[in-house]
Amino acid sequence: MDFLSEELQRYVEEHTTPETELLQKLNRETHAKVMKPRMLSGHLQGRILSTFSHMIKPENILEIGTYTGYSAICMAEGLRDGGKLYTLDINEELETMVRSYFKEAGVEDKIDYRIGNALDIIPGLNVMFDLVFIDADKVNYSNYFDLVIDKVNAGGFIVADNVLWSGKVVNEGKTDKDTQVMLDFNSRMHNDERVENVLFPVRDGLMVMRKL
Ligand code: SAH
Ligand code: CA
Repeated sequence: MDFLSEELQRYVEEHTTPETELLQKLNRETHAKVMKPRMLSGHLQGRILSTFSHMIKPENILEIGTYTGYSAICMAEGLRDGGKLYTLDINEELETMVRSYFKEAGVEDKIDYRIGNALDIIPGLNVMFDLVFIDADKVNYSNYFDLVIDKVNAGGFIVADNVLWSGKVVNEGKTDKDTQVMLDFNSRMHNDERVENVLFPVRDGLMVMRKL
């Protein structure tokens, strides 16, 4: 579901720095060859993530849910010199493709890409993060928040994707299980006193939280 009309979406994208050729290629290849290509962040959200990263100038970024590496490459653009982006995904089938894109983008040395269940990997990361992007299995969003909150520097950001769940968070009548998960996550984040939050109505909804 799109929250903006097709016309406005086009206008917004036409007035946003274009995707690099490499990101265009990754976008196309994901749509041509990979299951569920809608999961890829895409042009506008990619530029937003890049901009957040440039504003924060993070030393360390954690991404939960690499998929084909699009959002990782976008966020790596804003890393400070010597900074590192850790990105985790449970799906080993995409590893070869993802590594080749990280290499082609020239970010392979800045990215620590780990295959496995994020729930198992995160507790072993002895790193403090300035930016965390939560974008894996929605049922575990709350668990990811719990696992990362003490690993985020004061003033650092946690961003969670797809929190409007195609608009279903305001559906009247029967709420399905996945939507309930998102409703619970959003209200928990909104009420958590360790963070200030703003829900950006961008694409499928980005919950942006700043750790106090
Ligand atoms: N961030 C990407 C899209 C991520 S799609 C982008 O914006 O382009 C969600 C990804 O989460 C999928 O690749 C899926 O394999 C991964 N995932 C799902 N459950 C996971 C888990 N428990 N641990 C790690 N990754 C998981
Ligand atoms: Ca997403």
